[in-house]
Amino acid sequence: MTESVIYKTMIAGAEQQGDDDKDYKEETYLGNYLRFKMKREGKRFWAGDNISEYIDNEHVKEQLIDEAAEAFETVLDRLLIDRENDPNSKGTARRLAKMYFNEVMAGRYEPAPDATAFPNDSADRYEGMLVVRSELRSICSHHHQPVVGVAYIGIIAANKLIGLSKYTRIAQWCARRGTLQEELCNDIAREISKATDSKNVAVYIQAVHGCCENRGIMAHSSLTQTTVLTGSFKTDPGAKKEFFDNIKLQQEFAPR
Ligand SMILES: [Zn+2]
Repeated sequence: MTESVIYKTMIAGAEQQGDDDKDYKEETYLGNYLRFKMKREGKRFWAGDNISEYIDNEHVKEQLIDEAAEAFETVLDRLLIDRENDPNSKGTARRLAKMYFNEVMAGRYEPAPDATAFPNDSADRYEGMLVVRSELRSICSHHHQPVVGVAYIGIIAANKLIGLSKYTRIAQWCARRGTLQEELCNDIAREISKATDSKNVAVYIQAVHGCCENRGIMAHSSLTQTTVLTGSFKTDPGAKKEFFDNIKLQQEFAPR
């Protein structure tokens, strides 16, 4: 499908549903149309929000990448970078657009990872604590600088168990957006709770922030720690202690 065909198809679909898109009929950018649609539907689209339900096929994403590449060309021009003659800057606009959609902010545009749950309700069910360490790569919403760190995810097993790698997939899906570390901690706790049905979830993140290291105070090893505790991790000091003891054991076993 060509770009304009997709766009016209979407507008036609909106018309059939009786949506009032007349102000946007002349809009040439699919991105503007989608922003309009999200506003109308009261859908929040902050840097840390997932908007995958609006990117329902690869053609939509391809067109959004094309539009972002065009916009990045303008940014490079305004920065007075010669993208016509500098061989290293020639494809940069498109590389940036693809990097945002497919890598550093992929968690905004892709649906949640499929975390198949297995029942944990037999007589010999596992009732202990589980602590999983997940490496994280994110970018801060303020400067789009890298945030690199580790999340320790703790849960008290409930009636569902998910594969161990799923904890990390969920954490990375939350991280691959523009985030604040505090929000990221909350997002991971919420999504893990959803996937496991456990009300007892703890998340501890330690990360270094490019926006402190590469600019501003230029401080190396600007380690930032955040913790979210829910359920018994919050109410039972024993569970909280066990969680942090587990983190220490993990750090001794494989230092981070
Ligand atoms: Zn920042």
